[in-house]
Amino acid sequence: MFLFQKHFDDLLSLLFPNLCCGCGASLYAGESQLCSSCLYHLPYTDHHLHQENRVARQFWGRIPCHAAMAMLFFRKEGNVQQIIHHLKYSNRPELGVKLGQLLGERLLLSPYYQNIDLLIPVPLHKKRERKRGYNQSAGIADGIAKVLQLPMSSAHLLRKVPTDSQTKKGRSLRFENMSKAFEVRNEEALQGKHILLVDDVLTTGATLEACGLELLKYGVDKVSFATLAFVG
Ligand SMILES: [Zn+2]
Repeated sequence: MFLFQKHFDDLLSLLFPNLCCGCGASLYAGESQLCSSCLYHLPYTDHHLHQENRVARQFWGRIPCHAAMAMLFFRKEGNVQQIIHHLKYSNRPELGVKLGQLLGERLLLSPYYQNIDLLIPVPLHKKRERKRGYNQSAGIADGIAKVLQLPMSSAHLLRKVPTDSQTKKGRSLRFENMSKAFEVRNEEALQGKHILLVDDVLTTGATLEACGLELLKYGVDKVSFATLAFVG
C-alpha cells in the first residue's frame, strides 16, 4: 500500500507540477516547488550560524575542512524525506535549484562562507546521471551559486567508480572504496582556491570526505561543505 502510494504521488507530481513537493498541497501564484507553509515549517538546523555544529564535528580528525553545514534535519516520514525523494526520482531538477537558493540565502548570512572562490557539486557516476537525466547536487550548487554570485563547475571533479550498495559495508571499507572513487581534472584552475563542495544528503560523510581529500591533494587551499539535509 505504501509503495503504491509512493508511485501514485510520483505520478501526481509528474502530471501536476503545481503541487508542493513537501506536502502535496496546491501551490498558489508566486509559489514554486514548495508551499509557503512547508517553507516556513521545514526543520532548519541553523548550522550556518555556528562553526562547531554537529555536521562540522562529524569531520573532526578526518579532514581539515574550513566550514561544514546542513540546512535541514532529515527525518523519516517527514516533509524533508518527501522533498529529497522528489529531488532524486521525480525528474524535477528545478527543485534542486530552488532548495539551493534557500541554502544560499543562509550562507549569505554566515560569517564562515564569505571567502569561497568556486562551488563544486559532488558528482554522480556518468551512468547514473544519464539514467536520472541530471545531477541533483549540481542543481543545488547552481541555486547557491546564483545567490552568492559565485562560479559553479562540474568539470573539476568526476566520479570514476559507481558507488552503489555501500550501505551494508563497514565505515573503513566504505572509505576504502570511496577514496578511489573520484578524480580531479583541470587542477591548474583550482590552485590556492577555497572550494565549497555541495551534496544533497549527508549520512556518514564518507563521500564529502573523499572528495575533499582528493581536492586538497591538488593544491586547493581550503574546502568547505554545504548539504541540504543530514541524517543524525
Ligand atoms: Zn507544502
